[in-house]
Amino acid sequence: MNFVQEPAKPGKINLLDFDRKGLAAFFVGLGEKPFRATQLLKWIYQEGVADFELMSNLSKPLRSYLTGHCCIAAPDIVVEQLAGDGVQKWALQTHCGNRVETVFIPEEGRGTLCVSSQIGCALACTFCSTAQQGFNRNLSTSEIIGQVFVAQKRLGKDAKITNVVMMGMGEPLLNFDNVVAAMNLMMDDFVYGLSKRRVTISTSGVVPAMYRLTEACDVSLAVSLHAVTDELRDELVPINKKYPLKELMAACRDNAKIAPRRTITFEYVMLDGVNDSLADAHGLIKLLETVPAKINLIPFNPFPSSSYRCSSNNRINLFKTLLNDAGIVTTVRKTRGEDIDAACGQLVGQVKDKSRRHLKLKLLGAERAA
Ligand code: SAH
Repeated sequence: MNFVQEPAKPGKINLLDFDRKGLAAFFVGLGEKPFRATQLLKWIYQEGVADFELMSNLSKPLRSYLTGHCCIAAPDIVVEQLAGDGVQKWALQTHCGNRVETVFIPEEGRGTLCVSSQIGCALACTFCSTAQQGFNRNLSTSEIIGQVFVAQKRLGKDAKITNVVMMGMGEPLLNFDNVVAAMNLMMDDFVYGLSKRRVTISTSGVVPAMYRLTEACDVSLAVSLHAVTDELRDELVPINKKYPLKELMAACRDNAKIAPRRTITFEYVMLDGVNDSLADAHGLIKLLETVPAKINLIPFNPFPSSSYRCSSNNRINLFKTLLNDAGIVTTVRKTRGEDIDAACGQLVGQVKDKSRRHLKLKLLGAERAA
């Protein structure tokens, strides 16, 4: 690929911000035919060409217009780390000076990219390190699809991104339009052509946006459940106070209607003595009775300021057996990339943010160092 990465140019329109529909509307606005969108997507994502003058099937005046007014700008990689188990993590510089992280997880026969949707996160889940830094801003479509773009470029021919999970930093459904446009690009035949089963969005349960998603974009859905009573979920995943379990389950059932054999993945972080009792396992079985569900148990990954501990392997296995015996397909997520802080809930990036939580954390760190 001879793709040249350009910095985003002030005043220029970044064409990585558009999915096919957006790009077609953009060309129609210029008095061009909508099929220009396909031509451009092919040049950008398949040929790796960013110089508009080289796009030989566009007319000369259109090429000049694009050169003068548009750019194709993906974020820059500023740090690249490789874990002992082959996981790779990249920190990407965004134009506002913040960094986001994206993680590649190679497995037998597939390669999964874990993509971030926001700089920081506003949701304050108590067991997640991204939450500790507060919220800065939504990523643009170009910054989201740009993660796939630069990761695939760095991986080259060594590995292929076959799956994308929107499970990096941020709550993707709180950045709805940009995330949906980026996922459309991931599934577009002229971009990455991933099937809808290979693109997964994970949400903490932003219920109104879940209904919108069901209407707007058919991708796989994962829900961060983590507790089976409102009392505990209010504490672990505070957005539950706004959208309690009953409403969350109704939205899941609505999403499951999209296709006959569709199942929703429920993520459940295993926190020692917090949500891992036998009563919790039975509560989980009961809660999921009316939803076609798979469960993904996630061993808790610690981070410096966390006070939780991960459940024992015995307890995780017992949970798994109970759930499987109840007929719910249950897997335990393998912890990967721990030595480079690339595991679930360990992504922090760099947020130039003045939120109280961020300051509090700094103060705590200073106290410890003193
Ligand atoms: N905001 C979205 C997506 C990001 S997190 C969501 O909440 O679904 C991806 C998954 O990792 C979520 O299930 C999240 O709850 C989980 N997670 C967060 N912190 C974790 C930690 N420290 N250990 C294990 N899993 C964690």
